Amino acid sequence: MGNGRAVVIGASLAGLLAARALHESFEEVVVLDRDTLPQQPEPRRGVPQSSHVHGLLTRGSQEMERLFDGFGAELAGLGAPTFDVQDDMRWWLGGRPLAKGVSGMTALAASRPLLEFVIRRRVQGLANVVVRPEHTVDDLLCTAQGDRVVGVTATAAGQRVSVDDADLVVDASGRGSRSRHMLTALGFPQVEEERIEVPTVYVTRRYRREPHHLDGRAGASVNAYPGNVHGGFVLAQENDTWIVSISDRFGGVPPTDDDGMLAFAETLDSPDVATIMRTAEPIGDPVKMRYPASTRLRYDRIDQFPAGYLVTGDAMCSFNPIYGQGMTVAALEAGILRRLLKDGTTDLASRFFAAAAAVIDVPWAAVAANDLRLPKAVGDRSMLDQRRGAYLERLRRAATEDPVLATAFLRVTHLMDPPSALFAPEIAGRVPA
Ligand SMILES: Cc1cc2nc3c(=O)[nH]c(=O)nc-3n(C[C@H](O)[C@H](O)[C@H](O)COP(=O)(O)OP(=O)(O)OC[C@H]3O[C@@H](n4cnc5c(N)ncnc54)[C@H](O)[C@@H]3O)c2cc1C
Repeated sequence: MGNGRAVVIGASLAGLLAARALHESFEEVVVLDRDTLPQQPEPRRGVPQSSHVHGLLTRGSQEMERLFDGFGAELAGLGAPTFDVQDDMRWWLGGRPLAKGVSGMTALAASRPLLEFVIRRRVQGLANVVVRPEHTVDDLLCTAQGDRVVGVTATAAGQRVSVDDADLVVDASGRGSRSRHMLTALGFPQVEEERIEVPTVYVTRRYRREPHHLDGRAGASVNAYPGNVHGGFVLAQENDTWIVSISDRFGGVPPTDDDGMLAFAETLDSPDVATIMRTAEPIGDPVKMRYPASTRLRYDRIDQFPAGYLVTGDAMCSFNPIYGQGMTVAALEAGILRRLLKDGTTDLASRFFAAAAAVIDVPWAAVAANDLRLPKAVGDRSMLDQRRGAYLERLRRAATEDPVLATAFLRVTHLMDPPSALFAPEIAGRVPA
């Protein structure tokens, strides 16, 4: 094995997936999280998004299956519905639903707490991994020359503790990661940040699911577009529940009272969200969350970086949640780490950040292409290709009538095919000029 201890900051999805990747190449993996980790699938404070809708892209479930044999079957056994992403869902884009058809792509609809619970249980079952809750990491420990990270300091039960002697420290502490500030304090260069600002407020509530709801379909998604910046999502989950989310943008805030939520849902292009609110029994109170901007930190672009340190998951790139990419990218990054470690730890940071950047480029470009269509969105529009954008607009419109185009579109959004697949002759030939 050759490597001693690895330390992971954060026991949420990216941290747990990273720990799974590391356990094959390190004698010991220590995962630290500031939260008390629940014994049951429940939302927790350190992951405020865990009460909100989390759709796992088909690519994400495939990657997780690679990391945890039997992952899908385990979730299905715990009641997570599985369904065809096209046939059993209605995707509303630009005011109209995508054409119905069978995509052959299966989705797994588990709540965020259940996903994390199942993955944490798997990781805790690995003999050389220890997960330590209630450990808030405060700082990095470095060599005297400051060129290598060798551990962290943390606060646990009011005491300062060190976890040192580490060969690798991985930051998976989410959007609030302090890595870039800690690195500049150590004398490393500033990390460039890219931002796409579509400030959004989500209001989410769960409802009891009955078989007749939505004619047995598993849900519906209504995306914001220049004609209507109100969004909505309804998705079947374990325990015969629906998770329902409404969202507003650019300063608008969806209401949280029953009548107000229903009135808001009625402004959506699809009737599905309002139908559930009108006919299903609510469970618990609605919860609200703000999401200011997608952020991408370009660790791949700095030429000096300490040895023994990596950043992964939302700590490196946080995507507008509406596209459901974050967990899939975290799984892809864990896959990269696992593969790279087979060649040892030499130049690991530059190899990891370069490979991760190539993966992130695709979903990041998708966020930019969609979000920057909204006139009030703030971001670098120079990266957009007007001609490609106009073609994709026509494709999206045609995909509301043509099931083949709808499948091709969904395969790209689920990160199963590269965007170039939408420009292949057999697809382009179906798109009106
Ligand atoms: C509203 C919303 C909806 C979303 N919907 C989807 C979706 O549909 N599909 C999808 O794929 N993704 C979705 N995402 C993104 C998804 O939640 C994340 O990509 C995913 O949770 C992976 O994040 P992470 O593990 O990197 O960070 P997080 O989940 O944010 O976890 C960070 C962890 O680090 C811990 N931590 C933080 N600081 C410290 C510290 N100093 N010391 C110790 N521990 C620390 C926290 O307690 C937490 O456990 C959504 C996000 C939001 C905001």
